[in-house]
This record gives sequence, C-alpha cells and structure tokens, in this order.
Amino acid sequence: MVPLGRRDALKSIGLGGLSLAMAATLGCGKDDEGETTMEPEGAATTMAGPQTYALPDLPYQSLEPVIDDQTLALHHDKHHAGYVKGANAAVEALEKARADGDYAMIKNWERALAFHGSGHVLHTLYWTSMWPGGRGQPSADLAKALDASLGGKDKMLAQFGAATKAVEASGWGVLAWEPVGKRLIVLQAERHQDLTVWGCVPLLVCDVWEHAYYLKYQNKRADYVDAVVGILDWESANKRFAAAMKGE
Ligand code: MN
Repeated sequence: MVPLGRRDALKSIGLGGLSLAMAATLGCGKDDEGETTMEPEGAATTMAGPQTYALPDLPYQSLEPVIDDQTLALHHDKHHAGYVKGANAAVEALEKARADGDYAMIKNWERALAFHGSGHVLHTLYWTSMWPGGRGQPSADLAKALDASLGGKDKMLAQFGAATKAVEASGWGVLAWEPVGKRLIVLQAERHQDLTVWGCVPLLVCDVWEHAYYLKYQNKRADYVDAVVGILDWESANKRFAAAMKGE
C-alpha cells in the first residue's frame, strides 16, 4: 500500500487514453519522447484527432482508511469503466447518425454523451483529487486566487464541504476556475452534467453518489466528505490551476 512516485503515477493513470483537453485539464502532457510531462500540450499536439475514451489506472494502490479498498476497486473498475463505455457508445452512435443522416435517436445520444462524458471526466479528476494521507498545499498563485475569490483556503473548504454534503441525490462537489469572471467558484453538480457554469475548469472534485461511500459510511455522507477533504491532492490542483492560467 505504498503510494507510487509521481512520475509512475502519471504514467499509470493512462494519460495516453485521455482526450488532449482532459490531459491539459490534468496539467499534464507528453514530451517529444512520448514521456509524460507536467507541462500542458503545445499548440501542435492539440491538433491531433479525437481519441477513444479510456479508463485511467489509479495513481495509488489504496486510500485506506478514508476509502475502503473494496469501494475503491468497485468504483474504479465497474462504475468509472461504465462511464467510459457509455461515452464511447454515444460517440459511436452519433458518428453513425451523421453517416446515415438519421437523427431519430438524437436526444437519447446527446443526453448519453453529456451524462457518460461528464461521468468519465469527473471520475478521472476524482482519482487525482485525492492522495493517500493528502499531499501538498495550494501554490502561491492558487492561494492568492483562493484569497481573492473565496476568502482563503479554509473558507473555501468550509463552502466546498457544505456544498458537497448538501448535493441533492447523486452528484459532486467541485472547486473550479471560472474563466469569464476570472474567479474560483464552488459548484454542486447533480448527476454528472447538471448545474455547472460553462467553461469552468474543475480543480478538485468529490463524488457523493452513494457508490462512492455507502459500503463504509452508509448514510453518513458528511463523515465521508470530511474524510476526503482531509486527503486532498493539492499538487494535482496546483497543476490544473497552472494549466488554466496558461490558457488565460
Ligand atoms: Mn462515482
């Protein structure tokens, strides 16, 4: 149950299978030798074609005791894998619809794309929003943005925790950079795709679908959220924030 090194972890989360936009959101890319780097993709590589969605490996072996190993395995191997499959199925169905000029099922597939695509993106961010025992602190730039937008890290965490615990039914708590107003905001997402502000770049997310916590925490969602907040991966958040700033 030893955490992998950062470089190994980045390799193991399977960035090659992610969309380039997702890789940029994760604050990572590949250098000329195809090695994973901490820099976002350059302009040339953003011209690459669309990629099939793929399930990233977990960047660690365990998040015990915060998340029990059984939940971690089921959540990643079954639930997240289902969103990957669903997103690819929607993309393929829409390709076929365009080829056939048959849009009889357009509403179904557009909804499926939003649901499964957002599910895949958020789960990919979820695995890299946590680290065994927690990791790092907000960078100087992120700390400044937290102060300016949300009254500082502690007040942000209080809002993030409250918002996440109060999600109606299944959804997410999200700390995001909102580039139009140039501010950090805390969002509640219902299901995966509802209640966002367009264009936001998520930095940290917390899944409060019952499959994320019910085996260990049962109805005590608040205890689960507090425990997750205690192991946030600020190093990943810092990289995502730096990538977002580069795009400003
Ligand atoms: Mn989930």
